[in-house]
Amino acid sequence: MPSTIAYDVTVVDHPLVRVKLSTIRDAETSLALFRQELTELAALMTFEVTRSLQTRECRIQTPLAGYVGSQLARPIVIAPILRAGLGMLEGMLKVLSGAGVAHIGLYRNEQTRLPESYYFKAPPDLAEAEVIVADPMLATGGSATAAITQLKSHGAESIRFMCLVSCPPGLERLQANHPDVPIFTASIDPELDDRAYIVPGLGDAGDRFFGTL
Ligand code: URA
Repeated sequence: MPSTIAYDVTVVDHPLVRVKLSTIRDAETSLALFRQELTELAALMTFEVTRSLQTRECRIQTPLAGYVGSQLARPIVIAPILRAGLGMLEGMLKVLSGAGVAHIGLYRNEQTRLPESYYFKAPPDLAEAEVIVADPMLATGGSATAAITQLKSHGAESIRFMCLVSCPPGLERLQANHPDVPIFTASIDPELDDRAYIVPGLGDAGDRFFGTL
């Protein structure tokens, strides 16, 4: 079972998650393997992130008989934070094939050091949807906070945040700004360095996923 450590933070502790996360942390891992393992990690994490989703009964007909099955009660919207969050999209869609996608583009304004929006495009049904915000790294918490604020201003009411590697400053900031948003992570690393990289972390997730190192 995943363990809840503080507030609403769940560390998804599964052998396959630990092994795949170790592979993508390794600086020697090739681009192809990094992509493959990050994609599979995102799919495994989605399994836990969606564990508490509500379902409702639906009547179906198998080739042999009638059957009362289950369907998700609310539409799902996956919201990757560009650019690195896009790396998680394929894995998430493998297990949520009918989900809508909200793209959230943020960049860091070097003068104010605050995240600023350059792109936002979401499905129209945000208020009815279960929204899963995805970013591999929860570092300072600035982008995650801004992305969720933007989603809420467009009507989203039920939001979860999913990352692979987090650290205490990011968790604290995100929980302080959005205490209603549960956080799912595969690891809580000890610290941020002076360039706001998570240590030990895995480096720049976007650069490693897109081969722009
Ligand atoms: N973004 C990354 O890609 N890596 C970090 O360590 C922090 C932020």
